[in-house]
Amino acid sequence: MTLLPLPAFSDNYIWVLHDGQRALVVDPGESDAVLDWLGTNGLTLDTILLTHHHGDHTGGVRALREATGARVVGPRAEPMPEPLVRVGTGDTVEALGLNLEVFDVPGHTAGHIAFFCDGAGTGDAPLLFCGDTLFSGGCGRLFEGSPAQMLTSLGRLASLPDATRVCCAHEYTLSNLRFALAVDPDNDALQTYAAHCQSLRERNLPTLPSSIGLEKRINPFLRAEQPALERSARAHDPDTPPGPLGVFTTLRAWKNVFQ
Ligand code: ZN
Ligand code: FE
Repeated sequence: MTLLPLPAFSDNYIWVLHDGQRALVVDPGESDAVLDWLGTNGLTLDTILLTHHHGDHTGGVRALREATGARVVGPRAEPMPEPLVRVGTGDTVEALGLNLEVFDVPGHTAGHIAFFCDGAGTGDAPLLFCGDTLFSGGCGRLFEGSPAQMLTSLGRLASLPDATRVCCAHEYTLSNLRFALAVDPDNDALQTYAAHCQSLRERNLPTLPSSIGLEKRINPFLRAEQPALERSARAHDPDTPPGPLGVFTTLRAWKNVFQ
């Protein structure tokens, strides 16, 4: 199986997974990038996976379905370009001979889902398509969910195997890491990773996929229980309640206004 990100708009990635003949794509906000790529590489589109309803993730679905007849799979409870197969926690999607487990991960939107493949029997590391829930060094904005929901959703993702390849839907890494360095300045792994990502972006290379093991070491939104982050949160907002949810809530609000 080959995994690659197709850049779309200014900072979206449309993830492609293929076996040399058939492909699946995740969150095609536009169709042209996907159709061009399929044409150039002579592949058939089998499945379109959708994580949430935002237009930069769904805008290409109608044109792709018309051009390819691909099956569309998306969240149970979001407005979606019909028809599609609707799935949520407990469901498994079969595609390209793989089983993808579905998790509800509310927070960015109310019905956001993620797709996880444990890689068993493939020789490949596990794989996570998490849309706008978990980013490298950051997490999605809370448009429709509460901090408690997002913290629970991120905790579910953080419990996946460390080797899991994390396929986020945006190249937000450098701006996330500027905030991460401000709130977790003594984190050596974070400093090393930031320098690495800087050099990748200077060469116009993606910083993704990340991994769960790495994100647990560098992402402040997966580290709200760490004393260093609690200290930073409290220095920013002295009313931050003790405990991970209070720290997470302060960090998420701070990131929204961080320049
Ligand atoms: Zn979104
Ligand atoms: Fe998005």
